[in-house]
Amino acid sequence: MFVITQSCCSDAACVSVCPVNCIHPTPEERGFGSSDILHIDPEACIDCGACADACPVDAIYPADKLGTRDKVFIDINADFYKNNPDVKSGWAPVDEESGSTVNYPDVPKLPAGLRVALVGTGPSGGYALRTLLDRTEAQVTVIDKLPTPGGLVRAGVAPDHPGTKGVLRGFDLLYRDPRVTMMTNVTVGDGPGEITPAELAEHFDAVFYAVGASESRRLGIPGEDLPGSTSATDLVAWYNGVPGVDAGPPLRRGTTDDPATGRAVVVGTGNVALDVARILVSPPDLLATTDIADRALDILREQNVHEVVLLGRRDQASAAYTAAEYRALSEIPGVDVEVIDGLDDEVPSFAEPADPARRRIVFLFHSSPEEITGDPQVASITVRTGEGRHHIATDLVVRSIGYRSTPIPGVMFDDQRGVFGNVDGRLVDETGGIVPGGYVLGWAKRGPSGGIGANKMCATSTVEDFIDDVAAGRLKRTEREPGAFGALVRKRVRTVIGYRGMRAIDRQERRRGLEQGRPRVKFTQMAEMVGAAGWRRT
Ligand code: NAP
Repeated sequence: MFVITQSCCSDAACVSVCPVNCIHPTPEERGFGSSDILHIDPEACIDCGACADACPVDAIYPADKLGTRDKVFIDINADFYKNNPDVKSGWAPVDEESGSTVNYPDVPKLPAGLRVALVGTGPSGGYALRTLLDRTEAQVTVIDKLPTPGGLVRAGVAPDHPGTKGVLRGFDLLYRDPRVTMMTNVTVGDGPGEITPAELAEHFDAVFYAVGASESRRLGIPGEDLPGSTSATDLVAWYNGVPGVDAGPPLRRGTTDDPATGRAVVVGTGNVALDVARILVSPPDLLATTDIADRALDILREQNVHEVVLLGRRDQASAAYTAAEYRALSEIPGVDVEVIDGLDDEVPSFAEPADPARRRIVFLFHSSPEEITGDPQVASITVRTGEGRHHIATDLVVRSIGYRSTPIPGVMFDDQRGVFGNVDGRLVDETGGIVPGGYVLGWAKRGPSGGIGANKMCATSTVEDFIDDVAAGRLKRTEREPGAFGALVRKRVRTVIGYRGMRAIDRQERRRGLEQGRPRVKFTQMAEMVGAAGWRRT
């Protein structure tokens, strides 16, 4: 019997190869996209292992090969079927006509020589590229503002979840396709050295924006901008080695009279909040085996955060985290998890520094932050709970209350929702009219929800819309020569990086990792990355 474990990315590659249809929910079933992991029916699994081979993130193992930490997933997989008795596993129905178990819509005849730009190399960009290459003969130019591809898989997935990052191996195969031109270290915007959306629209038949959501929402409470109050976006980018986020959060160091508390407070109880809590409180020696940025590891060792309080404004049953991520917290060696959930539960005092003898994560539900105070930097956060107001002494406050996309001048932005203005993935202008050949995918289209695999269907459906638009003659074809865009970019961006440069960065990061017994040691400076890609300083 095989078992799906925590790093499942829900992209459903396993579903399509399972000969007995024993992995659920499938993309056609209720709960797909909101379910944290997919589940193998232990009664129906025939032990063929096809799912494990197909899994892009190494999340599937035979039950008897699971490590202690993952044994809990045997029950999680089985419980799904106990709790959803109407879900039926069994031999997949075969389509009578084609003999295939998968039905793709027919591709209409498309004009030759289509040229498409795809901005962003995160999960939605990767899945869109796969669909474009599978379903059309278009030439695709892939653009990313960072030198390295991967979007939030590289910059967001926590360093202690290395399996999840395996999804990038599948995308890398696509970048090698002769129809694909990679151009990283290229920013789309209206600043100096940037390529404007109007230029993209002029040089391509269609432009896909798969730019994710890279800004944090704000709490709107006093003290939010004090040093020591930070966003999950910045903190995650800091520990994941994103260039340009060198300084990191100014954790309060304390003085003899007013010592540091060893405590951090995270507002929110989504999976990002849990990632942040885990990384802050995990023993640094454990993190040292991961690809966490050295700049973060050094500070975490020095500051020794040993207590993280997570604030949930509703009750535990309504918490935004997924069950698999929550259960994984109790597997961190030496870390206790405590929950205060009753409306009338007494809230213990957090006025004193955290007990240095123990590491713990405390969930404080029914608590809303009111004010962050400290001079010159954060020393306390005031929260309102069911039974009154409390002051929590802390060295750091992290708001982890959801993301927004970053606007791109020249592409209509829906400020209210924090996404690009679109109707089902077709970009719209200020008047609400469809922008021919303009598309948006993933979090930039539908908002920041769902794990990696949730972007697969989202991206596929937008590419299908593009195919319909091309077939119906709704796109205006570019009149530019095929080489004109490359020439424009090389003139504008001095250090544009192609596939070979990207591979060179990857090789060098892995080699540095090998020397330290880690998956990789990331470059954290743009200049280092550009140098590793083969560009010499002039
Ligand atoms: P999220 O799941 O939407 O969680 C946001 C949290 O912020 C919720 O607890 C929400 O509480 C709280 N919140 C919002 N506004 C607030 C306010 N004004 N005051 C206090 N609390 C507030 O967002 P996320 O954690 O950023 O995750 C984004 C997506 O990425 C999710 O779909 C997540 O599952 C996915 N993700 C998955 C993984 C994984 O699979 N391992 C890892 C990271 C992220 P309410 O519920 O009360 O609104």
